[in-house]
Amino acid sequence: MKSISKKMPKSDDISIKLLLIEDSENDALILIYHLKKEGINVEYERVYSEVTVREALKNKKWDIVISDYAMPGFDGGEALKIFKEMDIEIPFIMISGTIGEDVAVQTMRNGAHDYLMKDNLTRLVPAIKRELIEAKNRRDKKKNLAELIIAKERAEESDRLKSSFLATMSHELRTPLNSIIGFAELIANDIFSYEDVVENSKLIYQSGHHLLALINDMFDFSLIESGELKINKTEISINKILDKLEIDFGRDNKVRTGVIKLIFEKDFEYGKDELYTDNIKFRQVLSNLIGNALKFTEKGLVKVGYKAIKDDAGNNFIEFFVKDSGIGIPENMQDVIFERFRQVEETHTRRFGGAGLGLSISKRIIEFLGGKNRVESQVGKGSTFYFTLPFDRESIKEVPEIKFVADKKLYNWSEKKILVVEDVDSNYKLVEMMLRKTNAKVIRAVNGIEAIEKCKSDKELDLVIMDIRLPDLSGYDATKRIKEMCPDFPVLAQTSYALSGDREISLQAGCDDYIPKPLDKSLFLSKINALLKKKNTQ
Ligand code: ADP
Repeated sequence: MKSISKKMPKSDDISIKLLLIEDSENDALILIYHLKKEGINVEYERVYSEVTVREALKNKKWDIVISDYAMPGFDGGEALKIFKEMDIEIPFIMISGTIGEDVAVQTMRNGAHDYLMKDNLTRLVPAIKRELIEAKNRRDKKKNLAELIIAKERAEESDRLKSSFLATMSHELRTPLNSIIGFAELIANDIFSYEDVVENSKLIYQSGHHLLALINDMFDFSLIESGELKINKTEISINKILDKLEIDFGRDNKVRTGVIKLIFEKDFEYGKDELYTDNIKFRQVLSNLIGNALKFTEKGLVKVGYKAIKDDAGNNFIEFFVKDSGIGIPENMQDVIFERFRQVEETHTRRFGGAGLGLSISKRIIEFLGGKNRVESQVGKGSTFYFTLPFDRESIKEVPEIKFVADKKLYNWSEKKILVVEDVDSNYKLVEMMLRKTNAKVIRAVNGIEAIEKCKSDKELDLVIMDIRLPDLSGYDATKRIKEMCPDFPVLAQTSYALSGDREISLQAGCDDYIPKPLDKSLFLSKINALLKKKNTQ
């Protein structure tokens, strides 16, 4: 390639890469000289056969093409055809010393952008400048159009996902609600044996937990989306967590009846199985994967385990796996399922429940914890989901004992008086019934002001259970006022928000402890017991 870059005085700083289709070297030099004279820096290549034109187009990007019309064995018309065939959009200026008006018109129709006579090149530079601007405009327009099309497709995809998510959510929420409302109504209105009532209540309980899991998923999802997911790392024992999961999932119908064999493989010895990570989130991810494995496996095997591995840089990780012999996942869906709301079956004929959030949440949690996710799967044979977590034995001290163990003890608080601050009747009733077997005297306040009044006037009170969302005065403010009057008076906060910061806010307001709704009865009673004991020792 020849390069003529010396600037002429008239230059207004245009540099072009020119493909010159011209058989005559002299004509080419005259043309280049003309451009130079007009102040254009030219990098050019001269070609004059079909093969060399194609080569030049393949090898380099050109700003402009100037082509002679008549050449021995090749002509400008054929060159134009190559451009069309290769779908190349470059300004194409035809020059000729011989052809007439009709050929010129035909040339323009075939895609040339301008047509000039060799003996009058005064129009050449203005034509080049104009064509460069127009080419840029065409490119911008094309780019804008492409961007618009992508944006439109994204909007349509997001709309489609939203509708499919809403339909799925509606179904997923209604399914457990159907059981809860249906069985509760049966218990209330029909005459049943005691066993039936117990059985139906268990189903209500299970459905309620199912609903709670769904709400927690949605909640986690929105925290992840807004970047507010909080990680709380502690030292955990992998084996103990697997033991707990083994018990929980052992209750699954398919496992209980032996249709699926659930195996846990623990590679490390107890005591040497510590990992520094977020306990709750780690369990959540593993539970989600095991739950999926059981859901998508009709019969056979689900195996859970882990092993130590190193990455390419020599860093230590533990790789966990959940392997099943279930339906498997088609290859083209193996990445997609980690996206939010995505499921292999996205139609109304779905055989499996689920909102399509679990894996996307798990993936993000593992990334937050410094690990990676992947899946291997074969349709009809099964899937293995893997995730890694950083493993650094150096940083691990002793595994602490779990601080708070919920128990199923029977308490006798016949000497105690508890104030329950709760505006919603059914919630009050629930607390009152949970406390019934303890023989505690239970009284109620329906708002914060009444709570403060009762604390002031009733000297027999031992404890306040404070709902946080109350009409008039919030539970936090009521607690502050109660604590101002009597700093040692125990207050247990309960809230439906269950936000990660709620605990801190409750404690800052002066509450002695915090429990989220829905209430776990044994945990609730243990917390009350701890607070009553603390009060006694004061
Ligand atoms: P959900 O289970 O609520 O649909 P997930 O995000 O957990 O949502 O999973 C997304 C999809 O990935 C599932 O709907 C299913 O199509 C597929 N999938 C997940 N785990 C498995 C598995 N173990 N076997 C087969 N398919 C699975």
